[in-house]
Amino acid sequence: MPLNFTFSAEDEQVRDEVRDFLRAELDPDLVAASRRSSGMFVDRTLARAWQQKLHRRGWGAVAWPVEYGGTGWSPAQLFIFREECARAGAPSVLKQGPDLLAPALFAYGSDQQKACYLPPMLTGEHYWCQGYSEPGSGSDLASLKTRAVRDGDEYVVSGTKIWTTHAQYADHIFCLVRTSTEGRPQQGISFLLIEMRTPGIRVEPIITLAGDHEVNQVFFDDVRVPVTNRVGAENQGWTVAKHLLEYERGSGGAAAGLKASLDELRRAAAHDPAGVMPIGADPAFATRLRALEIRFQALEFIEIATLARLVAGQHPGSGASSQFKIASVDVQQTIETLRLEVAGHYGLPHHPQISLNGHTDARVGPASAELAGAGYLSGRAASIYGGSHQVQRNIIAKAVLGL
Ligand SMILES: Cc1cc2nc3c(=O)[nH]c(=O)nc-3n(C[C@H](O)[C@H](O)[C@H](O)COP(=O)(O)OP(=O)(O)OC[C@H]3O[C@@H](n4cnc5c(N)ncnc54)[C@H](O)[C@@H]3O)c2cc1C
Repeated sequence: MPLNFTFSAEDEQVRDEVRDFLRAELDPDLVAASRRSSGMFVDRTLARAWQQKLHRRGWGAVAWPVEYGGTGWSPAQLFIFREECARAGAPSVLKQGPDLLAPALFAYGSDQQKACYLPPMLTGEHYWCQGYSEPGSGSDLASLKTRAVRDGDEYVVSGTKIWTTHAQYADHIFCLVRTSTEGRPQQGISFLLIEMRTPGIRVEPIITLAGDHEVNQVFFDDVRVPVTNRVGAENQGWTVAKHLLEYERGSGGAAAGLKASLDELRRAAAHDPAGVMPIGADPAFATRLRALEIRFQALEFIEIATLARLVAGQHPGSGASSQFKIASVDVQQTIETLRLEVAGHYGLPHHPQISLNGHTDARVGPASAELAGAGYLSGRAASIYGGSHQVQRNIIAKAVLGL
């Protein structure tokens, strides 16, 4: 028996407003183009088109504090907004700017940095990528080697970042750089904001197993960056970095998209394209689907609790954000696994869909099978990026269990 949230009349009014907006602004082309994307995020053109529409309606960053352009909505209203957007098929846009960098700027940015960087995030004019990981410095992030050497009013940055999502579209990157080799590795890191068109930056694509170009390696060769682009004090970047990671792992927002995927999975499992027995009627499959639904409900409650903390002005917390990341990614990957089972051979990645008589025909096969294989492969990365599951469990062991 599903548990349901009860929403107030004001909450339901927000839902009506969001639905009206989506009916008017979310055109079918945008939905279709988003659905065709097997990657984690849609490309920049779609992202900007959608962000501009949201911004014009005053919803460019609904969860930001009101003073910076947020809505002041309650946790339930934020939840409803995300739920309705996901249900309607709104594009999943890269969150590095508004959801990750912005909270770091609220807490540690100078007034000049806030004035310069927050408004173009809202309008979609600036598109950010995240320069944390390096070859050899992923889980052990503090061992990073990209150097920034002070030269007057500038830093000269040399080194490389890897797995940089959407660096090929981004016009800005926030980077962790080494400004000192004294003391513990964490003590010699600074946090810099860098324009991607600065001379000396080169982006090389990395194509994933799913066949997508989402990640890249970025090279820095004597790149000059104004000292005023440093967030926080020199050698104190680790504090800024950790604050940002809490938002990357646990600021909520996952449940809405997963709910839409779960609904789609249920529909697909109840239908058999060959007209025999739908896989959803198989008791073993049905049991796994029910177990997934129970875990999903737990996630929804964690998400509301997380939103309540954020609306109250608290940050997610390192242990709680790690728990949230594991819970949401487990649900996501189980949905993708079951979706692939439902799709059967129609879900084979890198191939046009194959008809039952062996002829290839892109029009054959259930719509739900489209990209099931590529989506499954792409989704495996979720338990790696933002810090692997093993690393999250280490954090929980320390921060929550005190081990
Ligand atoms: C699709 C994708 C997108 C990404 N996007 C970005 C991005 O935009 N910006 C960015 O900066 N980074 C990005 N990353 C990088 C990501 O954060 C790293 O891949 C991740 O932190 C793991 O680091 P690594 O790849 O170096 O693996 P490693 O650190 O080498 O880990 C290898 C394995 O060892 C395990 N392991 C390592 N240390 C421990 C430990 N102490 N205890 C237990 N197990 C351990 C890990 O769990 C993993 O299974 C992305 C990665 C992917 C796959």
